[in-house]
Amino acid sequence: MFAIILYHGVDSGERWDRSMTPTDREYVLSRRLFEEHIAYLSTHAIPVTSLSDCRDASDASDASDASNDERAPSGARGDRRPAVVLTFDDGDVSGYTTAAPILERFGFRGEFFVVTNWIGRAGFMTSVQLRELSARGHRIHSHSRTHPMLPALETTAIDEEVIASKRELEAAVGAPVEYFSIPNGAYDARVLDAARRAGYAGVLDSMAGYNERPTASFVLRRFSPKSYTAVADIASICERPRYTAARVALRRSTLTAAKHLLGGRYDRLRHALVSRKGRS
Ligand SMILES: [Zn+2]
Repeated sequence: MFAIILYHGVDSGERWDRSMTPTDREYVLSRRLFEEHIAYLSTHAIPVTSLSDCRDASDASDASDASNDERAPSGARGDRRPAVVLTFDDGDVSGYTTAAPILERFGFRGEFFVVTNWIGRAGFMTSVQLRELSARGHRIHSHSRTHPMLPALETTAIDEEVIASKRELEAAVGAPVEYFSIPNGAYDARVLDAARRAGYAGVLDSMAGYNERPTASFVLRRFSPKSYTAVADIASICERPRYTAARVALRRSTLTAAKHLLGGRYDRLRHALVSRKGRS
């Protein structure tokens, strides 16, 4: 079993060239908090791995592992600790300037999902920086060409975003691009079909949860820390998977019920709640 963590930008207090919405900002961690997360993984000897290494090791997976069972009793301890994969979406330049050096200090490597049309724009990594990260052992993957809501597009446009971005990125980085991260977490059957035709090994969602083997499901879930996600929450993901899976399942069922009850008013309510939480 493994847990994929999804980061976006890391704010080191230096110049910030990207314009961001309040929602974007919510996913930017301070350098200090990000460093605490990574130091925790190292101090507690959490196995940090890559998607491809997880895939290669998947045969050794223990089929009796029940920690992905969302009905497991909360608070259960003693469950097997998941391996962790560290991913970064959007291609923010802080991946190169801040996140990668911190990871490397602890002997870790990251997986960076890049929007190809944003490469080299102010606040985003350049192709030279991406090649350098790749040469240093990090992995570069696709996060589409323009970061659209994919289900809203015609099928040919979906192919451009999913398939052409892979080829472009492979040419720019000079290394295979194996995974696709779904922009805005929105996809349909056509998106998955395009990803399969492109030859991706899998696609990454932003829905919270653990994954069994990388080959067990084409769509992989991720935990997505926010600016206020404490080290204790990362510890919970790494060391209390049954408890964490139960919490995730509870939150999901509550959200589903809220959506059902509130209909169109749900999104406005969610935005209000998220904004308030984000300032705390
Ligand atoms: Zn994104």
